Amino acid sequence: MKLSELKRRGSDGFGSGHFGASRGPRTHNGVDLLAGTGEDIDSPVVGTVTKLGYPYGDDLSYQYVQISVEDYDFRVFYVEPSVKVGDEVTADTVIGFVQHLGSRYHGIPNHVHFEIKKDGDYLDPTPTLIAMGG
Ligand SMILES: [Zn+2]
Repeated sequence: MKLSELKRRGSDGFGSGHFGASRGPRTHNGVDLLAGTGEDIDSPVVGTVTKLGYPYGDDLSYQYVQISVEDYDFRVFYVEPSVKVGDEVTADTVIGFVQHLGSRYHGIPNHVHFEIKKDGDYLDPTPTLIAMGG
């Protein structure tokens, strides 16, 4: 699945999936996209896998994939990676499979989290998704 094919998460009992939404003292730095557990996720861009990371230091079962293009880092959270650091990917490369978020947030609409960083700042991914047709 392309990220642009996924519906955006609106507001629910756990918060809003929009960029800039409140998370208590913090801000939501990406866009959430509804996705079923096990669905395959394509790379959002043509680039290089530069990191496989962990969103939660206290639970290493969750992972994210980072793809870099020049100064931009594109990160897709809550996927079991099917790529490794150094891989060149295109928009048709499956980068991983959607994980089950309900184990951490019981009852939350299952989703992936998409964020874009440039020079340490978070950019709103919404225009990128729209440009991709989402
Ligand atoms: Zn999110």
